[in-house]
Amino acid sequence: MRTSLVSVGALLVIIGVILMVLGVGYFGKFEILGRSFTIDTFSLTMGGFIVFVAGLALPASRPVIIVSQKPQVKIRTVVACPSCGKFVSRKAKHCPNCGTRLKP
Ligand SMILES: [Zn+2]
Repeated sequence: MRTSLVSVGALLVIIGVILMVLGVGYFGKFEILGRSFTIDTFSLTMGGFIVFVAGLALPASRPVIIVSQKPQVKIRTVVACPSCGKFVSRKAKHCPNCGTRLKP
């Protein structure tokens, strides 16, 4: 069985590391949509550390997104129309949306 898992813990660890690196390396003001923010290394680093620890605390095996646990029958039996991109039955001779001939 093909299963793709994305773990919340791993994502949080990565985000935490990025924030910590930013916190160590960056100090200053920045502007978002005309508003200026002052960012300091301490809060960035602490925020990153908290996210990092939270990521480590979560079990790595806990799945968030199960991409394909069971192959779906629908995916196998439809095909995208080469002309308009609509999904139509593989058995169809013509696309019901635009009328393009699908099979010779
Ligand atoms: Zn079509």
